[in-house]
Amino acid sequence: MSKRLLLGLLALLAVLAAAVAANTLRQGSRQLQVPPAPVVQVDEAAVADTLAALVRLRTVSVVGEPQANADQFRALHAELQKRFPRVHASLQREVVGDFSLLYTWKGSDPSARPVALMAHHDVVPVAPGTESAWTVPAFEGRIADGHVWGRGTWDDKGNLVAQLQAIETLLAAGHQPRRTIVLVSGADEELGGLRGAAEIVKLLKARGQRFEFVIDEGLVLTEGVVPGLQAPAALVGVAEKGYITVQLTAKAAPGHGSMPPPAGTSAIAKLSAALQRLDQDQFKPALQGVARELFDTLAPEMGGLQRVVLSNLWLTRPLVEAQLAKAPSTNAMLRTTTALTMVNAGNKFNVIPGQAQAVLDFRILPGDTREDVLRHVRARVGPDVEVQAVGGSTDPTPVTPTDAASYRHLERTLRALFPDTVVAPALYVAGSDSQHFVPIADAIYRFSPIRATPADLPRLHGTNERISIRNLAELVRFYHQLLAGLDVPAT
Ligand SMILES: [Zn+2]
Repeated sequence: MSKRLLLGLLALLAVLAAAVAANTLRQGSRQLQVPPAPVVQVDEAAVADTLAALVRLRTVSVVGEPQANADQFRALHAELQKRFPRVHASLQREVVGDFSLLYTWKGSDPSARPVALMAHHDVVPVAPGTESAWTVPAFEGRIADGHVWGRGTWDDKGNLVAQLQAIETLLAAGHQPRRTIVLVSGADEELGGLRGAAEIVKLLKARGQRFEFVIDEGLVLTEGVVPGLQAPAALVGVAEKGYITVQLTAKAAPGHGSMPPPAGTSAIAKLSAALQRLDQDQFKPALQGVARELFDTLAPEMGGLQRVVLSNLWLTRPLVEAQLAKAPSTNAMLRTTTALTMVNAGNKFNVIPGQAQAVLDFRILPGDTREDVLRHVRARVGPDVEVQAVGGSTDPTPVTPTDAASYRHLERTLRALFPDTVVAPALYVAGSDSQHFVPIADAIYRFSPIRATPADLPRLHGTNERISIRNLAELVRFYHQLLAGLDVPAT
């Protein structure tokens, strides 16, 4: 190598390093600086006791059995009436689809768009065989070690109790909202919300209501979940992925196992080849849209190498995309995912079946559609395999932009209550009842400040579900501040 070339290369490296450093430093924090919110007094023991009482009511929703646990749902309604007298005296209460609840707190200004708080009071059952793994039985409703334990404490009775308590407290203080506040609590969220939230939305639509924003369960206040980020992160779900279930069917002449057809021509072989192609040749991952905004927001809050790498995506993007695509949780934010979930063929060891079937679960990224998925599948399985969408499906929801006034309000509320917490938009890869509000809401947020460390994540729909009493009080303050701050003009 000539000396001149070497010097040239060194100069180039120096320029590159300077650009990387400049970029890293230039991308300052995007976090709002707001004064701390006044601390609202919360009777922690009373709120915990109310949640524990609700946990004892086994409001498990069951597919195809709308009247399952009817007595438990009715008892829950009665418990709410007993525990929140002001709410029940001042708000209009309607029961929709048997057990779902709609409360309306009429605002003083009919021209101001209403706001909806959402929760749900049905729960998933305890997985059979896991009962003994619970430290406290799932429906005992015990308060111990600073926590309320049991099914529904996190998902989602804790939010319901906190929302009602916030309104109860505001009513006690004589608060009169300018905007109408609606509280929706579904009784069949875990089944898709068709009898609850969907019917409530029909009702609200018929009344001509259109919402400034809707806030529902979804992402949480994570601690130690984002690699490289020391601070807790309030990840606000600004969009929900869509989904479609695709069934593949391959057919061939059945036969005896002793005289198989040529390689690649049996139903199982054709189906296997199709599955192999779909597994190997998936939608491409890309750091764009919500995921891009998430990492752009988090980067300045990170330390060390992560900050440098994420602040210089112009250079590091292929590397970062490959890295994120490796972990299932981040992979799901970058692409429409392909999951092979069911295979069915044959019923005897020596009979070659005439049909083989498989089911794939696709979760659709904003930007792709159900049609795109079907096209993707057809292009890879070839003409020999039938492709059919089965069961329910939805396209992804629209993305709520972070420059919406309601996002600013949510962000201010969070920063005022949780000053050391980084607020960032993110993609919610599961589903919530709020999806039914898409036609009548300007903005939808899937978030509640439930604190979760990596060790807590398996508790959701899992074993030893719980919420700390302190966190429950934080939820009350969050909803209180969110509603009280609505009528205060932003500065
Ligand atoms: Zn839930």
